[in-house]
Amino acid sequence: MERLWAPWRKGYVEAGAPRGCIFCEKSDAGDDAKHHIIARGKSCFSLLNRFPYNGGHLMVAPFRHVAALDALTDEELLELMRMIRDQAALLRRRLSPDGFNIGINIGRVAGAGVADHLHVHVVPRWSGDTNFMPATADTKVISHALDEMYSRLTGAAK
Ligand SMILES: [Zn+2]
Repeated sequence: MERLWAPWRKGYVEAGAPRGCIFCEKSDAGDDAKHHIIARGKSCFSLLNRFPYNGGHLMVAPFRHVAALDALTDEELLELMRMIRDQAALLRRRLSPDGFNIGINIGRVAGAGVADHLHVHVVPRWSGDTNFMPATADTKVISHALDEMYSRLTGAAK
């Protein structure tokens, strides 16, 4: 995968790992719009990444706090994969990407920011997006952009 220019991730890298588990906290919080949770299944959910590599970058995770694939039951694995399929289809309908990177980083050494709670990245890609150079990247701008993206993905179909 070519590296995307995503300077707002700098804040995330510098802040280090959050103290609690963001996946457990967000899924338990009871305010899905605030936490940009897009879909909930029986055992898995999806949410927008606060520090996206690209517009529409979302993550699918099990509700259970587990670190590895072999800790998931067959039912959880099936729902996880189905949700990845459905969320990619949603991104395709709403954002018309040219392709996707879909992947899992397992373990900190492999690049997982939150290593203790398994999550699958779904990153929409557009031709030429590696040349994208945002002029501003402060938290306010990103958070506003996330709210807009959330509405775009969860709002009524156009
Ligand atoms: Zn967790």
